[in-house]
Amino acid sequence: MKVASAFRWTAAAAIITAMLASAVSFRADAQSEYMRDRMPYDAFDRLPKTDIEVPGGIIHVALAPGDFMLSREKLLDWIRMSARAVTTYYGRFPVNSLRLLLVPVDGGRIRGGTTWGYRGAAIRIPLGRDSTEDILRRDWVMVHEMVHTALPDMPDRYAWLSEGLAVYIEPVARVQAGDLSAREIWQAMMRDMPKGLPQAGDQGLDNTGTWGRKYWGGAMFCLLADIEIRKASDNRLGLQDAMRGVLAAGGNHEQGWPIERILATADKAVGVDVLTRLHNEMGSKPVTPDLASLWRDLGLKRVGEDLEFDDTAPLATIRKAITAPPVR
Ligand SMILES: [Zn+2]
Repeated sequence: MKVASAFRWTAAAAIITAMLASAVSFRADAQSEYMRDRMPYDAFDRLPKTDIEVPGGIIHVALAPGDFMLSREKLLDWIRMSARAVTTYYGRFPVNSLRLLLVPVDGGRIRGGTTWGYRGAAIRIPLGRDSTEDILRRDWVMVHEMVHTALPDMPDRYAWLSEGLAVYIEPVARVQAGDLSAREIWQAMMRDMPKGLPQAGDQGLDNTGTWGRKYWGGAMFCLLADIEIRKASDNRLGLQDAMRGVLAAGGNHEQGWPIERILATADKAVGVDVLTRLHNEMGSKPVTPDLASLWRDLGLKRVGEDLEFDDTAPLATIRKAITAPPVR
C-alpha cells in the first residue's frame, strides 16, 4: 500500500498503519530488524533466498525468521500467481530484479505492504503466520505492491497517482490473468469509487492528501483516463498501453521522475494527451464526475445485491476491452 523512498515514508491508510503497529508490537524483538520504517536491505541480503524467474526479471524471495503455517512452496506459488497478473498487464515484469521479503506476524491475514525503490526495487509484506492458501489466493496486496514497482518515484503530493494506479490496475490485471471475475471488480468499483469524490474544501488531487482522494480519487482518475484513451483510439489502446510506454522508456520505481514526464511519456505511447489533460483538469481543483451516468454508459446495472451487464450501452465495448486479456 505504501510507497516509500529514502527520504520519506508515506503514511497510507490510517487503519493499515494501526494494524501494522499492532503486528509490529507483537514479538517486537524478533521482528524489529525486519519491520523498521525503511527496507532492511542489509538484513535482507544476509537471508537465504529463492529466486523466481519471471518474464523480464527475477524475484529474490526471502522469509524473515519465524514460522508460517504454509510451506515455502505454497508461499512461492502465491508470489508466482501475483507476478503473472502483473506481467499479463504490463507485458513484462516491471523491474529486472525485485527483492521480496515476507515477515511472519501474528494472525491469519496479510497486514499491508510497502514498496521501495531507492536501493533497488523491494517489497516487504507482513504476513500472518496462520494465513491459508485461500487467503492468499484472494489477496490483492501482493499484486498492488508489484504494480507500484512499475511507476517512477514522485514527490508525496502525487501519491494519488501511484496509489490510484495500484488500486485500479490490481483488479484489472487479475481479471486479465483469469484470477478474478469482471463482475467482481465492477461491483467493487461501483461500491468504492464514490469514496474518491471531492469533499468540501477539496483543492484538487495534487493538494488534497486525504485517504479517499489518494486511493479512490486516484483510481477514478485512472478509470476516466482509460475510457478517454479508448474513446480516442477507437478502443484499440487504453491506460494499459500508456503505462507500458512508461516502462518501455525506462521508467520504473527505481527511477525518480517528475509527474509531468510520467504523464507525457504515457501519453506519447498512445498518441493522445489524455493523461496530461486530465491532470491539468483534476490536479488543482475539485472535479466531480457524474458516476451514475458513467456506470450507465458502461452498461453496469445494479439489481439488488447483483450486477447486470447491459451490452447495448454506449461504452459497453470499452468496459469489455478494459478487462480483456491483452493479445501481446
Ligand atoms: Zn499502495
